[in-house]
Amino acid sequence: MFENKKIYIMGMARSGYEAAKLLVPFHNEITITDGKEQDENQIKELKSLGVNVIITEKQEDYLDESFDYVIKNPGIRFDTPTIKKAEQLGIKVINEVELAYHFLPKNVHILAVTGANGKTTTTTLIYEFLKAMKVPVHLGGNIGFPMCSLINNIKDGDYLVLEISAQQLHDMYGFKTEVSVLTNLTEVHLDFFGTYDYYQEMKKKIFQNQTESELAILNLDDETEIKLTNDITSSKKYFSLNKRADAYLKDDIIYYNDEKVINTSDIRIQGKHNYQNIMCAIIATKRFGITNEAIKEVLTKFVGVEHRMEFVGKINGREFYNDSKATNVKSTEIALASFKKPIILLLGGLDRGHSFDDLKDDMEYVKYVVCYGETKNRIKEFCDTIHIEVTLLDTLEEAIKAAYNLSEEGDVILLSPACASWDQYKCFEDRGNEFKRVFEILK
Ligand code: ADP
Repeated sequence: MFENKKIYIMGMARSGYEAAKLLVPFHNEITITDGKEQDENQIKELKSLGVNVIITEKQEDYLDESFDYVIKNPGIRFDTPTIKKAEQLGIKVINEVELAYHFLPKNVHILAVTGANGKTTTTTLIYEFLKAMKVPVHLGGNIGFPMCSLINNIKDGDYLVLEISAQQLHDMYGFKTEVSVLTNLTEVHLDFFGTYDYYQEMKKKIFQNQTESELAILNLDDETEIKLTNDITSSKKYFSLNKRADAYLKDDIIYYNDEKVINTSDIRIQGKHNYQNIMCAIIATKRFGITNEAIKEVLTKFVGVEHRMEFVGKINGREFYNDSKATNVKSTEIALASFKKPIILLLGGLDRGHSFDDLKDDMEYVKYVVCYGETKNRIKEFCDTIHIEVTLLDTLEEAIKAAYNLSEEGDVILLSPACASWDQYKCFEDRGNEFKRVFEILK
């Protein structure tokens, strides 16, 4: 399918670079374009492999009808001039995961996770569970390791665990999994997809091509999701926080097939949302015979994924949590629901004009808010309306130090900013690392 072809890769970043490298040995003629400056060593390497690398603001000028495929970076909108031109010319647009899929050896067990929230945690849990089963397993996708970079190490019969975003699903057609998880649905990324319906249709594609032999793992507590997946052809298994299902929570115990798996007191990660993620991972790996002992071995040690409600440490009885990944209000609501002790909450970041009002019902344990960044004035207005004391500062560093000065023994100092990081940071990881750096200074 991808041999002796003329291929246009739009967007270099990591996935474009890896896609080009995967395609080179198959005698493809490859052009890769990007609107921004890229790593010079990578450009040099690709050029030495015969790839035509073009850095230009006019990417569309380099696409014409002689190309067989366009491989699009998932972050690029589908209404950009180049993608529109590809469609007009009848050139198939796919992404790097779809491409890599066609290079997989036979009989690889593919497990994929999508959803509005909980993707990375659930993907990581499945990966850790499979590792505890001592089977050969690979981790990739949206989680930071492009699938193309894994292909040469994957063998027949291996397990492959992938986090897949809606943006990736948009340009995936032949991709088929053995197990697909849809954690939940909420109205996010509307700026990208236009409507909630269209976003849902993209999420549903995680089950595309599945038959009764393959498994869909679904959230019984999410009505929208249940309705959306009504007509999929996969076998279905469900998880629930409050109803009997294939996996469910009852009286602080997680059950699978009505059999006790683990007490929540033995689980290190906090919050009901994480029990949902755990239940997904249990259902996914029970298919391959995981024991309750192996599950317990992981869950008694697993402290969560970095920047997601990550416990950073204690200073004089104050607990510091880094939830920098909370880039929207919904995630911050969930973080707040995980604590039953006084919280000093750090809020702020990029201003997308979004409202903070939905936080109102979750502020019961919040004793102060310290806000910073582009949204600080709007956060102050919100705090004033609900009569919560608020301190306004410019930077996160100042905000963390102020939070510490305001705190007492037994408090939680929580960075769960409800905003993207791009006003002051390159990415949420940099923001979370800054939190941990200031923690070390305070210590
Ligand atoms: P994603 O990869 O989908 O962004 P993560 O696992 O990185 O999800 O978690 C990001 C944040 O989303 C967490 O810090 C938490 O606030 C929230 N979250 C995690 N799991 C769930 C879930 N199952 N339901 C709702 N929210 C969740």
